[in-house]
Amino acid sequence: MVRHGLSVRRSLVRVGGLLLVVSVLACAPATAPSPSAGPVGTAEPSAGNSVIAAAPTCPAGPAGSPEADGNGVRPWWADRVFYEVFVRSFQDSDGDGIGDLRGLTSRLDQLNDGDPGTTDDLGITGLWLMPVAESPSYHGYDVTDYRAIEKDYGTAEDFQALIAAAHERGIAVIVDLVINHTAIEHPWFQDAATRSSAHEDWYVWSDTRPAIARSDGTRVWYGAGGRFYYAYFWEGMPDLNLANPEVTAELDGIGSFWLSEMGVDGFRLDAARHLIEDGKKLENTPATLAWLKAFRGTLKAVREDALLLGEVWDATSMSSRYVREGSLDMTFEFGLAGATLTSVKSGDAGSVMAALDEVASSYPAGGAATFLTNHDQNRVATQLGSDPAAERLAAALLLTGPGVPFIYYGEEIGMTGAKPDERIRTPMRWDDSAPAAGFSTTTPWQPLMGDPEGNDVASESADPGSLLSSYRNLIRLRSEHPALATGDWTKVKASSPAVAAFLRHVPGEDVLVVANLGADTLSGVSLSLDAGPLCGPGRAVDLAGDALVAAPALNPSGGFDNYVPVAELGGRAALVIRLGS
Ligand code: CA
Repeated sequence: MVRHGLSVRRSLVRVGGLLLVVSVLACAPATAPSPSAGPVGTAEPSAGNSVIAAAPTCPAGPAGSPEADGNGVRPWWADRVFYEVFVRSFQDSDGDGIGDLRGLTSRLDQLNDGDPGTTDDLGITGLWLMPVAESPSYHGYDVTDYRAIEKDYGTAEDFQALIAAAHERGIAVIVDLVINHTAIEHPWFQDAATRSSAHEDWYVWSDTRPAIARSDGTRVWYGAGGRFYYAYFWEGMPDLNLANPEVTAELDGIGSFWLSEMGVDGFRLDAARHLIEDGKKLENTPATLAWLKAFRGTLKAVREDALLLGEVWDATSMSSRYVREGSLDMTFEFGLAGATLTSVKSGDAGSVMAALDEVASSYPAGGAATFLTNHDQNRVATQLGSDPAAERLAAALLLTGPGVPFIYYGEEIGMTGAKPDERIRTPMRWDDSAPAAGFSTTTPWQPLMGDPEGNDVASESADPGSLLSSYRNLIRLRSEHPALATGDWTKVKASSPAVAAFLRHVPGEDVLVVANLGADTLSGVSLSLDAGPLCGPGRAVDLAGDALVAAPALNPSGGFDNYVPVAELGGRAALVIRLGS
């Protein structure tokens, strides 16, 4: 793939009803025609181009290295797109109605076949597997054996085969690691229930019931054998005592096991903000951040590039703190996820722009895991009323924005689902066949959602206007353009409150994203960037097809004033424009 060629390259990517205009001026500052060779930032007339008056001259030398960003060498996950899979609901390989590891492996080619030349795969480059360790529950977030694969899912050999097949295709794999609590059936807790047993101090006990509850009043102490144990989420999930060095040592060993023996590339740490309590403070204690920092250090000693991603379901200021302070490599951005859907629902860009602005300034490179929804939330399609235009717009915001995007399986085909939890984790719809849409040859463990005919991978693959085709195009676009994958994010002012606009920049590439969140077509939307990284002749790029995309006149500060890229911006439409630099 040519990223820094000399030729002018253009492509028009249609994402269903959403028009993505990509005007690619392959950037090669060292050799491209340059009207002047002054130092960076000098404002000189660009004699060779009539479009622009006084733009900063581009620096001489090769385009910036894609291996580094403003903060130094970027981590391997920074330019990836991840996909969250619930193994139980993805693909059944042996006809028992339960998804399994062999089934997932058999579907990898549809996620990424490893060939950049093909376009009929989704193109994701990372997988997050919800828990795969032995557990009595359907979801696995209450473990009974941290070193064994859930029997419903297969064997350790099946898991290692999955890892190998994923790696062959360039897909990294992380798994859920649930260390805040165990299943009540775990042998440790069964032993701990006996006073003075070897595992007693592995959990949190009190002879009297402490007057402590969650902020919403939910109880967190439960009786057992005449005393009480602490369990934040529910009585069937007793909290481990991570203040006990024996527990920490055991968890260190478990993390090492999955990295060294099972071959995972990292972990998604469940309930990361709840690890260690301090009196009535149940979340985000200094001891929790310190424990994670030490755990991260231990696992980095096992594998230097291991990814530790945490679920810190909290405000951006708090979730980003875990990354800034070195407790985790990356945390999920719940604030941005909610704000994105709020803006798409309301048609007002205010929420998502404020959240993007905060995210861009709060996390180091590769530190924010962005998403729309996950397995704990009502599905995007349901929240957006199964409106494909709204779903495309949400996807466009996610996949052109900062951070490392995560897609929850089924989101890309418009699968619906509302709580209870089992109904937001239903089997994947692969085709329109009976009895289970290609998921299984028998009655599945959980009935499929009654989604409209045509909402499945096979049907949508055949339709270039489908939501799935939009997702494929957007992921490919992100993969092919470093500015979208890892670029700096800068807010661009828009003349309409319905418009979200921002610039993504890496040395050598600038991409402008303009999204109309409203349903109505807007005329003459103008954009302003007081100061920015743009330089050189602001080329008047040729228009692709009938898309009327004008080049901006750059101001002396590397930005633009009152730039009108298109005469009309359709409702729910997004433009992705590469600016010549
Ligand atoms: Ca099965």
